[in-house]
Formats: sequence, structure tokens, C-alpha cells
Amino acid sequence: MRIALAIVRTDHHIESIHPPLGLIALRSRLLEAGASEVAILDGFLPTEIASHELSEEYDLVGLQVHALNASTSVELGRTIRSLGCPVVLGGPEISISSDLSWCRGAFDLAVRHHVSLQVAEAILQLPNHALSVPRTLEGEQRLTGRISYGGLIFDEYWRRAAHLGMPRKHAPIITHLGCSFRDRTRGGCSFCVDLGLKTSLRCSDSLESEVAELAELGVTHFHCVGENLAQGIALKLRRSIQPPPLSTWSFFARASEIHPVGIAGLKSFGLEEIRLGAESGDPHILQIAAKGETLESIQQAIEVLHSQRIKTTVSFVLGLPGESHKSLEKTCNLAQRWTDQYDLLKVSCSLISPMAGSELGRSIGMSPGCYGPTARKKFLATHTSIGVPEIEAAASRIERTCRTLARIESNASAPWQSLETQDESMTAATRIA
Ligand code: SF4
Repeated sequence: MRIALAIVRTDHHIESIHPPLGLIALRSRLLEAGASEVAILDGFLPTEIASHELSEEYDLVGLQVHALNASTSVELGRTIRSLGCPVVLGGPEISISSDLSWCRGAFDLAVRHHVSLQVAEAILQLPNHALSVPRTLEGEQRLTGRISYGGLIFDEYWRRAAHLGMPRKHAPIITHLGCSFRDRTRGGCSFCVDLGLKTSLRCSDSLESEVAELAELGVTHFHCVGENLAQGIALKLRRSIQPPPLSTWSFFARASEIHPVGIAGLKSFGLEEIRLGAESGDPHILQIAAKGETLESIQQAIEVLHSQRIKTTVSFVLGLPGESHKSLEKTCNLAQRWTDQYDLLKVSCSLISPMAGSELGRSIGMSPGCYGPTARKKFLATHTSIGVPEIEAAASRIERTCRTLARIESNASAPWQSLETQDESMTAATRIA
């Protein structure tokens, strides 16, 4: 059984330095369930995927659907099915959809949340037992199995990183799932999508063997894609696994989870970088975003990280409710002050993306599968006194005056970078298995 798993390229597509961990995890379950070959196609155009599917004769195509590629993926799903090949849809936009009528005709099976071994076995039945009506299967809330990295080729991602001056071998890993802040507040920050996942550290045996497998592939930098590394999780992680000697690690964290003792402990584990959300340089907007942080708490976290020489990335979301010329000015000034003051700090900007499943998305009646420029415009008109051109101008000013994270290094859904600074050599689609 030969399967292709794909992320469709769209206008918003980022040629990331980060391989797609969601598809790597899914590939692991399908191989475990008996698939003979599972290819991963990252960032291909819909036409390229359709022609791969034809020329390579895959028995099944899986598409990862997120807010930014939903309409393109649905269109592609319908095309592939019309060619007689079964299609499975999964990914965040499917997981938040209780009603899948927006992707009617585009799938044989839709899978919510993580694919369990049982669901993987059901997927493998599809080519031989065509379904008369499409079905939806519930996967697991928790990612239980081991992720297998064997047979993957990360060279293209390493080439992109080397191009940015990072000539090391890196890979994505997920040490924990969920966000303790979201658990505590029952919803988290207003712009964040809540998939209903409770915070937990992954099984230490799985983690240990994933780290060992990556180390064998030559990986020395581990990029954790888990949200908000809370102190309790960090402590458990340090007790559960032994990182390879001289390996380096980066994590997302909230400012209020940054304390000198915890950071010193993580430093001995190999901590190299922390990615913090500051969201806005305007305290009022930060408060409306329900971030649970203040500019003071974020500055304090930056101080701790700076004093222990940890690289820090601070991200801002431009266009949050209440955004105005004045607040954009405050954000630009703060970004500049922080990069002037802290030599290891970079900033990154993203444009507001009111996702279905987030409080902000719900505020303008967003439903799954309908994200696009019209939704963003409607959102800005409803909640702010500025438009896209003003946001672009502020982002462009930050890029000119501050040390910024390259677009391809970002994990944000809509990182901003001017067209002039995007690198042509970064536009290759990637097949990693
Ligand atoms: S933005 Fe970060 S801190 Fe806020 S709810 Fe989402 S994961 Fe948690």
C-alpha cells in the first residue's frame, strides 16, 4: 500500500526550515499499521500533487488541512477523488469542525485529532473497501504512539537553515501537548485555537527513543513544537529524558513561566532558545487579548533569559482588537527598544488571522474552512481603526529597524515579511520520504 501525505502550497505558504511534524507522526502510525510506503510532500502545488498521485500511482492521498490552505485542499481533494483515488482529510481545521459540509465531496474519510493505530488501520482499508458514503473518525486527543523518523530526509530543511547562517542539523520534536494557561483559563488567549487538548508530557519511552533516533540521523538541534513549556512540564522533561551530549533545544514558553532557577536547569539540559509571545507593545491591547501577561512580566522574562545568555524570540501579532495607529507605533518602538537593549533577542511579526475555533474567529462568526483576506478585512473593520496597509507599514518598519526572525524560521501561521526580502532560493517544494 503506497500513500502520499501532502500539505498543499497556497499564497500564504511558508517555505519553512521546519519539517511538518504532524505528517511525520501520521506516517509513523500508517507504517505501524502496515503501509509499505508513505511519502510526505511538503509545499507542493495542487497540480503537482495531482500529477504525483497519477505518475507515482499512490493508493491513497492524505491532505493536511489548516485554516490557510482549507479551500485549496478541498478543491484538490475533489480532483483527486474524481481521478478514482481515495482521499483522507485531517489537520487542525478538520479537528475543530463539528460539521464537515464545507468540504463535502473532498474526502472518503475525515479524521479528527491524532491518528491512532486503530484509525490508521481503518485508513488502510480504504483502497480495497470503498465507502459508499464519506465517514468521519475520531482519533486520539493525546498523541500516544512513538514518532518514527527513520527513512526521512531533512536535507532541504538543513540547506534552508544553513542559508540563514545556521549550519547545523535540526529536527522537530514534540515533548508535550497542550497549554496549561488554556487549561486554567478554559480558552487561553483570544487569538489561539482551542482543540480541547489537556496539557501533558508525552510518554518518556517514546521521547527517549525519538531523541536517540534523531541523534543517529545526525540531528544536534531539537526544535520543540509543543505550546507553552510550563515549569512543571519542564521539570518532568528534565527528569524523564537524557538529551544527547552537546545537543541544543528550543521551546515556546509564556513569560510568566520563565524563572531563573528553571532556566538554569533547562540550560544544563541544552536550552538554547525560548520563543515568547509579547503580542503587542500596547498594554491595553495585551489585556484585551487575554494573554494573562503584562509588558512588565514579559520584560522581566526577557531579562532572565538575557542574563543566562539564552536566545530569545519575541513575537507580535499586528491587528489585534483595539489596534490603532498609536498602538502600532507603541509596538514598533518597543520592538526596537528590546532589540537595541538585548543582543540575543529577535522579534517576529505576524498579521492577525482570526481562525475559526478561536475567540476572535467566533467574534466575527468565522466557521471552519472560510478563512481568507475577506475575513481578515471584516475582522479589522469590526475590531480596529486600521486596515491591512497600516499593518504592513508597521511590520515593514519593524523589519527595517529591528533584528527580526526570518519568515522561514517562524512557526506563526501568517508571519510577515516584505516580498523584497523573501529569498527566491527558498521556494522549493520538498519531498522528505
Ligand atoms: S497563545 Fe500560547 S499561551 Fe496563549 S493559549 Fe495559545 S498556546 Fe497558550
